[in-house]
Amino acid sequence: MIHSVAIVGAGTMGNGIAQVCGQGGLTVRLIDPVAAALAKAEDNMVRNIQLLIDNGLLNSSVETVMEKVSFSDRLDTAESADLVIEAIPEKFQLKQQLFQQLEQICSSRAILASNTSGIPITRIANTIGTPERVIGTHFYMPAHLIPLVEVIQTEHTSEPVIEETMNFLTTLGKTPVRVRKDIPGFIGNRLQHALAREAMSLLGQGVASAEDIDAVVKTSLALRLVFTGPVEQRDFNGLDIHLSIAEYLYPDLENTTEPLAILKNKVAANELGIKTGKGFYDWRDKNIPEIQAKKNQELINLLKIIKD
Ligand code: NAD
Repeated sequence: MIHSVAIVGAGTMGNGIAQVCGQGGLTVRLIDPVAAALAKAEDNMVRNIQLLIDNGLLNSSVETVMEKVSFSDRLDTAESADLVIEAIPEKFQLKQQLFQQLEQICSSRAILASNTSGIPITRIANTIGTPERVIGTHFYMPAHLIPLVEVIQTEHTSEPVIEETMNFLTTLGKTPVRVRKDIPGFIGNRLQHALAREAMSLLGQGVASAEDIDAVVKTSLALRLVFTGPVEQRDFNGLDIHLSIAEYLYPDLENTTEPLAILKNKVAANELGIKTGKGFYDWRDKNIPEIQAKKNQELINLLKIIKD
């Protein structure tokens, strides 16, 4: 049984994961060498817990959750954890070094999980002597709101480790999905990139504006996909119809194996999106914190509907 969790890395993902574990009543240690990252994580957690309470999505108090969580800049404080979830930057060398340290620090029974977005879990597992306890737990941003966690097994991961991780996430109220092959992008990022590649291709070809392409998704596909996934939806449409369309459409779909020029050019021009003020949209005169808060509130409103 998992009673105690250590989260290593208190950035965007780490603080949300720590919050979810604290809400589940587990003893949580959030570890980061940067004091400012720990302080920011604590502020975010307090604000986000209160937001869930205010919206009726959490029946607890900020104090009850936060008294389960402690903060440290020392990795050896992960020593007593039954489960360690790594959420440090997406750099293989850093993760490799960390897992080797964790293998020395933690009990041999501890499960070692990575929140990597795309580094194959097998690569990380192969760097230590006990790969059977290494697993992927890919939370989605924002981790305190999005229910999905992809659980990625490697050919070394033991069945008890997979089952215990799946059960643990279920008790936290998450929706764990077992990914049985350790392939790049797992499931969610493969689907997301397939859609984004086609959207950028349409934009690059001048088929429609960014606003109109987004409107097509927001006012049709996205609404249905909340309740009926892309596989199930095909059954409602009829597989014979789908086949007829696929036969003439597939040759015309974007199938480049390199990132598209429209994306590369944006990045070369430092148009990286919200963080530099411009991406596919112009954000320079916009109130970003207000927009982000509104989008989070819209997500919460939707989660309330789905939950009922
Ligand atoms: P981040 O840059 O926001 O935070 C990383 C934190 O790790 C920083 O606070 C840093 O000080 C700390 N850190 C660096 N080295 C460390 C070490 N050796 N020990 C402990 N802490 C260390 O990163 P993030 O966006 O939270 O991403 C973390 C992981 O989650 C990455 O692997 C990323 O690919 C993955 N991920 C990110 C998102 C996302 O949307 N941001 C979504 C899913 C998965």
